Amino acid sequence: MLVNITCPKCNTSGGFSITDAYYIGPYKCWKCRAVLKINLENNRLVSCEAMDDAELARFEQEQEAKKRSRGR
Ligand SMILES: [Zn+2]
Repeated sequence: MLVNITCPKCNTSGGFSITDAYYIGPYKCWKCRAVLKINLENNRLVSCEAMDDAELARFEQEQEAKKRSRGR
């Protein structure tokens, strides 16, 4: 499923592919490199806001922790 995300900073739309109908996480604008926190529900964008570096780092740490506990 490909969802169109319009960057609030530079107004460029980009495609974002998800495997689930629900997603909360970072999206990086391919043009201005802004990192956005997007919230998708039912394959539709419900919110999109700027994500600061600290938040992104925390998110990536969580993902890493999940991977580690899952992977074997
Ligand atoms: Zn942008």
